[in-house]
Amino acid sequence: MKLITPHGGTLVNREVHGSEHARLIEASVAMPRLELNARAISDLEMIATGAYSPLEGFMGEADYHTVVSSMRLANGVAWSIPVTLPVSSEQADRLRAGADVALYQSEQLLGVLHLTEKFTYHKQAEAQLVYGTIEAAHPGVRVLYEQGDWLLGGRISLLNRPGNISFVQYRRDPAQTRALFRERGWRRVVAFQTRNPVHRAHEYIQKCALEIADGLLLHPIVGETKSDDVPAAVRIRSYEAILNHYYPPTRTVLSVLPAAMRYAGPREAIFHALIRKNYGCSHFIVGRDHAGVGNYYGTYDAHHIFDEFEPAELGITPLFFDHTFYCRVCGGMASTKTCPHETNEHVTLSGTRVRELLGAGELPPIEFSRPEVARVLIEAYRDSKLEPAIV
Ligand SMILES: [Zn+2]
Repeated sequence: MKLITPHGGTLVNREVHGSEHARLIEASVAMPRLELNARAISDLEMIATGAYSPLEGFMGEADYHTVVSSMRLANGVAWSIPVTLPVSSEQADRLRAGADVALYQSEQLLGVLHLTEKFTYHKQAEAQLVYGTIEAAHPGVRVLYEQGDWLLGGRISLLNRPGNISFVQYRRDPAQTRALFRERGWRRVVAFQTRNPVHRAHEYIQKCALEIADGLLLHPIVGETKSDDVPAAVRIRSYEAILNHYYPPTRTVLSVLPAAMRYAGPREAIFHALIRKNYGCSHFIVGRDHAGVGNYYGTYDAHHIFDEFEPAELGITPLFFDHTFYCRVCGGMASTKTCPHETNEHVTLSGTRVRELLGAGELPPIEFSRPEVARVLIEAYRDSKLEPAIV
């Protein structure tokens, strides 16, 4: 049973052990220090574990430009999102290309950047091309505008995993999910990316996909998200609830992805697909407005962007899904593709209505949400862990 090949051909591993580990720790004392923010810490780990294969470090200028302008690395390999390490000009001034830089999470040494180049870049151009807007109101663009004016490029070596790790039991590196899939005899594995609780519509999509695959990887993002997204801890409880009651454990794996959301919509859909390929998934579910935010992207832009690549360039197969719902006439879950009936036969609830119900401690209709999931969300409201604005 052969799993899909990692993107670029080889699963990158930039975590060092043994004598090289000891040597770099000793040498780090004399290196200039750089403290990383949450996004950079997450990217460092994603690079080191091979989740971003074939990247071996933060992008240099050539890769940065081709990725931003044409969604390819300088060597032509498909890649849609710049993975960069921004610093201020003051910080850049004291760093020298060719020298190593010690990377820190507060007082904890995480790794070393083997700095090969530092360069300036055009933030508005990146915003327009990657996010499709130059508006600072867009959360991804805002981060871009607030970050430093210089980018550091070079391979990295990871010495220590980041601290304050949550959901330890659900954390698996790409090598670990691949080993697990092999152990289960899976070859066709479909990944579902999410940053929301799973309601019936998503359950339906996942199960449609599972019908044509050997296994499902439910792969929620637990890296940095917008402050008004449902907190990861609540989401994990809601996933546990639905998996325990409605999914076959022999066909399903819940694992968390420590990546930070960019909210880059279509481009992030490609990025998310390539990441899942590295985790060993052959198929990737792309729903409506994948990784979108506000009204910045068209509902199906994240589907259309896949047409800008030859299937072999991506390797992983996207599975596109439309709007899904329970239809009273069909007597089951359906979509705008499969149901011919009037919309008044569909059980659909606005986000506002769902929030009202949950906030009042009431279960939404069973055709919309599994009661086990709704109870987790109601409880989260009650514990005031959630503002009523955000389920
Ligand atoms: Zn119908």
